[in-house]
Amino acid sequence: MPFLNIIQLSFNALHCTTTFFKRTYVRLLLGIGLVISATTCNVWAEELPQTAIPQVKSPEERYKQAKDYYYRLERDPKLGDERQNWLSGIRNFRRIYLSENKGILAPSCFYMIARLYRRSYQRFQLPIDLDEAINYFQETATLFPQNNLADDALFSMADIYQNEKNDPVQAAKIYFTLTERFPGGDKYAQAINRLRELAKTKNIPLPDQLIRSDTLNHLVNVLPVKHWSSADYTRVVIRASDTVNYSASLLEKDGDQPRRLYIDFAQSYIPPKFRAPVPIEDGLLKQVRTGQFNDSTVRVVLDIESISDYKIFSLNDPFRVVIDVHGIGKDKQKETTASSQTTEKTKTTPVFREPEATHPFITLKDFKKKKPDQSVTTKKKSSKSDLSLAQQLGLGIKKIVIDPGHGGRDPGAMAFGMKEKNIVLNIGKRLEAILEKKYNYEVQLTREADTFLELEERTALANTAGADLFVSIHVNAHPDKSARGVETFYLNLATNAEAMRVAALENATSTHNISDMQNILSDLMQNSKILESSRLAEFVQKYLVSGLEQENYSVKDLGVKQAPFYVLIGAEMPAILAEISFITNPEEAQLLKKDDYLDDIASQLAAGVAAYVDHHTTAALQL
Ligand SMILES: [Zn+2]
Repeated sequence: MPFLNIIQLSFNALHCTTTFFKRTYVRLLLGIGLVISATTCNVWAEELPQTAIPQVKSPEERYKQAKDYYYRLERDPKLGDERQNWLSGIRNFRRIYLSENKGILAPSCFYMIARLYRRSYQRFQLPIDLDEAINYFQETATLFPQNNLADDALFSMADIYQNEKNDPVQAAKIYFTLTERFPGGDKYAQAINRLRELAKTKNIPLPDQLIRSDTLNHLVNVLPVKHWSSADYTRVVIRASDTVNYSASLLEKDGDQPRRLYIDFAQSYIPPKFRAPVPIEDGLLKQVRTGQFNDSTVRVVLDIESISDYKIFSLNDPFRVVIDVHGIGKDKQKETTASSQTTEKTKTTPVFREPEATHPFITLKDFKKKKPDQSVTTKKKSSKSDLSLAQQLGLGIKKIVIDPGHGGRDPGAMAFGMKEKNIVLNIGKRLEAILEKKYNYEVQLTREADTFLELEERTALANTAGADLFVSIHVNAHPDKSARGVETFYLNLATNAEAMRVAALENATSTHNISDMQNILSDLMQNSKILESSRLAEFVQKYLVSGLEQENYSVKDLGVKQAPFYVLIGAEMPAILAEISFITNPEEAQLLKKDDYLDDIASQLAAGVAAYVDHHTTAALQL
């Protein structure tokens, strides 16, 4: 979603002023003496070994390429360990704003240059890098005051004074400037929090204006609402700038007011620009309304049309609250297959911890009382004549959603010049073709190109598509280069440290957050298909290992594991995540470059899925 990426949003810059040109040229002359290379040389740092690149690329493409190079600096130790490469990264952005007369990308370039200098300082501890970072942040805010990045730049600058320069007085000054200049901006609440923190820890007096409104203490920004809809399922996601307590309540219809579900965010603030109602109108929800309920509470209201149940949970890094609601239709459908699910639940429940009834981060509600088993049987019998044998047996596995991990600004694991996001998209497309042509399944990819998708969006896509199976494809990484092999995961509490590490990596969060997650997971998994997911994982793992062995690859079988993967949470069908090889292992990295290997992986994933469906069918026929 565009608002998630502040850099890409920032194309509404002011025209370049003469001051801007004067200052940038002065900067270049005073800087590292790059005038000659910047104007005459168009070779990209990352492509240096090859021949010069023709100058046909648009500034936007070059900007994307420059950001890509920056991500590689962050993720690839070989590249990031050389300061020279960070300076190359900086040159990439500098060339773009120099070549671009209208300067539409200039604020983003300035901001990125500042970020790269700061990261370079954090790695190499050269004070000149930190000063450059401050200068460029300052210029982003001064030259482009109307740009979305202006307040972010001020915030980063203050943050440098607070954390790296150890100058809390200067930091407080800048935070205060930010609150005055950008009261409606998305950095406002964070700046207030920082001022409070500095007042408490460093005895820096708070500005008078802030002392009066004590309720502003530690406000978190609530960000715009996103949603995904189908006829019987809707997912709504509300992001916030930081972890925050929230509570949910259901209000029944009251005069003109419809039935509604509201979520109150404690100690929160919603910038006025995010307060417009979001229409949904999908038969389940009418709209989502957001507002500042009082000085320190943001209330998000979901106006209900018709829903049977809802489920609320939160994820970290960035913090977001996810609300899944079902329509009445979905509930009926569930009841017809209730018998198999009941067995599944009984078998798996003992594995989980008891749900913590008082946990603030979870609410589970079922509006309709479960009907006795008798009615389920009757329902099944009455509709039997209209269904095929497979459908009568409840075997309708027709649609498979394949999820190539990462994408866009998230490259996933990187090593040996490769990115996980490209490898898994390549495999995903091959798998799609095989499942469609050889096995006649209907297949949908969560992404067909190099685009960024949030983890919760991937599950939402599978749920709204009514998928019967969900397969997320990833490539593993490990600091130890000798680590190699194949492993398949399904959603559950992690049982060992290594599984936690992989989940933390794929969730882009800390292992600490994963342990927190474990506490609420037991509630969330009550309706998930854990037993079926574990079976699907067993088949896929078995076929991957034995199939690759048959092709004479030496495969290390790391087995089927369980861990709390964000991307699998809330999936309403058997769902797995396959880590098909290690990008950090030299031998496996070589294989990942070969089409044959990727084909073999895709074939074995497909064979595993097909074997699971076959087994499922046979087991049902034997009943
Ligand atoms: Zn991954």
